[in-house]
Amino acid sequence: MKEKLLEMKGLKTYFYTDEGVVPAVDGVDIVIHEGETVGIVGESGCGKSVTSLTAMRLTPGKVEEGSILFQGKDLLALSEEDMRKVRGNELAMIFQEPMTSLNPVFTIGEQIGEAIEIHMQYSKKQARERAIEMLKLVGIPRPEQIVDEYPHQLSGGMRQRVMIAIAMSCNPKLLIADEPTTALDVTIQAQILDLMRELKEKHNTAIMMITHDLGVVAEMCDRVVVMYAGKVVEEADVVTLFTNPKHPYTQGLMKSIPRLDSSEQRLYSIKGSVPIPGSLRKGCTFAPRCEYALDTCREEMPELAAVETGHLCRCWLYEAKEEQAE
Ligand code: SF4
Repeated sequence: MKEKLLEMKGLKTYFYTDEGVVPAVDGVDIVIHEGETVGIVGESGCGKSVTSLTAMRLTPGKVEEGSILFQGKDLLALSEEDMRKVRGNELAMIFQEPMTSLNPVFTIGEQIGEAIEIHMQYSKKQARERAIEMLKLVGIPRPEQIVDEYPHQLSGGMRQRVMIAIAMSCNPKLLIADEPTTALDVTIQAQILDLMRELKEKHNTAIMMITHDLGVVAEMCDRVVVMYAGKVVEEADVVTLFTNPKHPYTQGLMKSIPRLDSSEQRLYSIKGSVPIPGSLRKGCTFAPRCEYALDTCREEMPELAAVETGHLCRCWLYEAKEEQAE
């Protein structure tokens, strides 16, 4: 069994707004092992990005409860200075939109070199050489020239490669990728995913892949965590999740994938939308959209429980079956 690299336990991140408290992450447990790729999936507003930002301690919300153990140390207990040493070094992140994440006034080389100089104590010259090496590694042509260019001189796909080069420059143990290919066209998207897979295999980097795209999950992930309204509703290895999804929300997400062998003219979509976390005071948060909802569902939130070994689901349909079996 591989070692646990990241372990989030009972994590709660709340936002205090004029309209009230929004529990964007509401008691989440997620484990990522060394070298493993775990997909965090769900529609916009389900809490997946806030979960990843909380892991980096970059969330604008307040962490109310829980712990984030990374290589055994609790990130929430670290001083800001110690956290900075972890961030960009052992724990790195790539964001959805590289143009807003890269600084327009610094060259590509300066931006890759910055983390290398800080975390690896390299001189400016060594950092520049490492930056060129990283650009080569992520498949950027003419790296000796590109290193002195500015972000606006590169295409979207090239900028995302630069973001990956920055994130990978200090050989992180865990890479958090928040919708890394959403802003790119399909061909570039496939190239970036190939690149991430290659880097992961070479360096045994674990990846937390935040995405709403189940195609990306199928291609990249070993295990999948499905989130809905701030909570984990299902978790399983990728094959089990795609072949035997249990939670009605996951089943809905699966049905929404376009299929070439289907004669349906219209794509399936789950009716309604994700509620603002905390707006439903009791019961299962998916109940207003669920075609199987029972009376119990509107009264009480089910626990996340094992439906089979390694397969967890938060739904009364299975709890009820288990009780009948007892
Ligand atoms: Fe649907 Fe009830 Fe299961 Fe929630 S608990 S997903 S409402 S069946």
